[in-house]
Amino acid sequence: MQDQFGRKIEYLRLSVTDRCNLRCRYCMPESGVADLTHGDVLRYEELLRVTAAACRLGIRKVRVTGGEPLVRRGIVDFIGRLANLPEKPEITLTTNGLLLAELAEELRAAGLARVNISLDTLRPERFEELTRRSGLEKVLAGIEAAERVGMLPIKLNIIPFADFNADEIVDFARLTLEHPWDVRFIEFMPISADLDYASKDGMPISEVESRLRTLGELEALPHQASSGPAQMYRLPGAKGRVGLIPSVSGHFCGDCNRLRVMADGRVRGCLFDNEETDLKTALRDGSDDQILEELLLAAACGKPQKHKINGKDFMTPSRRMHGIGG
Ligand code: SAM
Ligand code: SF4
Repeated sequence: MQDQFGRKIEYLRLSVTDRCNLRCRYCMPESGVADLTHGDVLRYEELLRVTAAACRLGIRKVRVTGGEPLVRRGIVDFIGRLANLPEKPEITLTTNGLLLAELAEELRAAGLARVNISLDTLRPERFEELTRRSGLEKVLAGIEAAERVGMLPIKLNIIPFADFNADEIVDFARLTLEHPWDVRFIEFMPISADLDYASKDGMPISEVESRLRTLGELEALPHQASSGPAQMYRLPGAKGRVGLIPSVSGHFCGDCNRLRVMADGRVRGCLFDNEETDLKTALRDGSDDQILEELLLAAACGKPQKHKINGKDFMTPSRRMHGIGG
């Protein structure tokens, strides 16, 4: 599967729910999300059929996301079914880690290769302030469990905010001295107009980099496909790596290989593009797999060349991040 700019589309982000057990202030309102009826969200059989079609078209890696994917009942079994598709795609997951300690072993046994864990602070009171829930200890236990069962390397995703966790950037980076983890800083993307978080609240990755340099020289590591858009570095003597992802200030769209399927059965070619292709109708009106493949190909073909987030004609995405899947 290729888009009109010749990019090979091999990576599917699959959102299985828009619900979550946290309420991160930059992602979700306090009230959570409107209750979708069962009919609004794709059933696992439908998500599997979409993924199977995407794999026939060349998808090789599937990242399960949400909302919080681990809150959806039956997720372990679903991961197992994804991993057993004929093309044997690599299955990964992005999670807030709250339920990971209890599920890590089963997920690993089902075929989950790796997890990305989102964690923006190492301080319990800040965790509660940001997520409006408690549970930092559970997340830390989840990281440990994922490491114990061999979902390696552990990747931690942190969004640096100028007035919230900037003073923890070096604390997070220091974790790589003792642990063989990838600690990745990702620029905040101002996509949700109704959540009171604007560009000014985020921190440019260049500023993160200067703070990291106070810990010693950063050795730039050669780019690997598994690092996606992250530029990876190593601190002197570190076991793990530090990653910088300039989602807003940088332009990595030229290498974008992603397609996003959301829980309501719509596909986006780009996180920041409100154009969506509906799959649910075809899934439910008796259309055959060829139609499904044609819709996926059309969505891939419609991928914009690059995001316009820094441009004058940028339109705020019509969904919040928990509804797209990050
Ligand atoms: N609940 C899971 C989690 O938090 O990892 C998966 C879904 S969450 C929407 C996926 C990722 O998107 C998380 O790492 C989260 O921090 C990130 N995210 C949410 N809103 C964002 C924003 N406005 N800019 C950048 N990243 C964002
Ligand atoms: Fe939930 Fe993830 Fe959004 Fe936080 S970032 S509210 S954990 S979906």
